[in-house]
Amino acid sequence: MATLDDLPLRPDLVGKKPYGAPQDAASINLNVNENPHPIPEEVAADIVSSLATEVTRANRYPDRDFGELRESLARYLGHGLTVDNLWAANGSNEILQQVLQAFGGPGRSLLSFVPTYSMYPLLASGTGTEWIPVPRGTDFSLSAEDAVAAVRAHTPDITIICTPNNPTGTPMPLDTIRALYDVTNGIVVVDEAYAEFGSEAYESALTLLPGRDRLLVSRTMSKAFAFAGVRIGYLAGNPAAIDAMHLVRLPYHLSALTQAAGIAALRHSTTMLAAVGAMRDERVRIARALSDMGYTVHPSEGNFVLFGGVSNPQATFEALRGQGILIRDVGIPGHLRVSVGTHSETSLFLEKIAQLPR
Ligand SMILES: *Cc1c(COP(=O)(O)O)cnc(C)c1O
Repeated sequence: MATLDDLPLRPDLVGKKPYGAPQDAASINLNVNENPHPIPEEVAADIVSSLATEVTRANRYPDRDFGELRESLARYLGHGLTVDNLWAANGSNEILQQVLQAFGGPGRSLLSFVPTYSMYPLLASGTGTEWIPVPRGTDFSLSAEDAVAAVRAHTPDITIICTPNNPTGTPMPLDTIRALYDVTNGIVVVDEAYAEFGSEAYESALTLLPGRDRLLVSRTMSKAFAFAGVRIGYLAGNPAAIDAMHLVRLPYHLSALTQAAGIAALRHSTTMLAAVGAMRDERVRIARALSDMGYTVHPSEGNFVLFGGVSNPQATFEALRGQGILIRDVGIPGHLRVSVGTHSETSLFLEKIAQLPR
């Protein structure tokens, strides 16, 4: 049997590791920042009836430009956006891949501020784009001066700003994004996967879109919207940037079932987002409790908490996993990340970690 080493793989992919968050079916999963609350029954029923209609005509290709889904997404986002400002794909990972296919690639570069979302370097390598990781400060914040200096020094073709940042939870002020945009001729992507979890002070970069043709805001239905299994991510930007997405997407990349499910779910956006407030409260509870236990908790605007002061992250991760609780070792020395669960899941996590050596 051949191994990967025996195959004529592209040289730039040799030795690369795939994305690999563990999936334990039996565990309490607090490792991939999902919404732990299932789809409310009345919404599920409406989605199912939409799907039933689509199944009977699945002999035909789906609407290639998914106009109704884009309209629904524009309505959901507000900010005066219309169908021409919206794009969607199978998760915001695919959105980011398409952005890299259109604006990155061989001879081009992608800059981001690390630690950040682990998919960025993988998407860069998959598209042959040079990856430029710029370190954040010790508390994972980033001053506008440092961000601007890094972009000036490296002149990247694409800059991705993740805000609130995964895995640290750190938001990036709009002033910094504005300043950063002004010093680059490249594309600036703001990854707002966790925007709905932001506190009142959190400001979306959607407000910056008018007059900024190279700015793109990426969102997802996977996190706050409790729709990770369906795979819908989306992008808001200038219509010209949306034209670029048409050049690189596969024809009919969004199935008729995906489109129908998304449209139906967006009809119930208030219900779908009903748990977000409770999840914010759980985030606060986790942060307080871990802090009382002596861990260093990083302020988070997402549905997860990064905590430091863990003497042996691997041992703590494994001890919790052995008790059926899956959290995340994100590879930051002395740190672990835990996603907000339901109230009872969170209680169990806090009870178990309190019993472990720090
Ligand atoms: C989860 C996540 C995504 C992507 O999720 P999809 O399920 O592909 O939409 C994108 N960016 C960040 C920062 C994330 O944490």
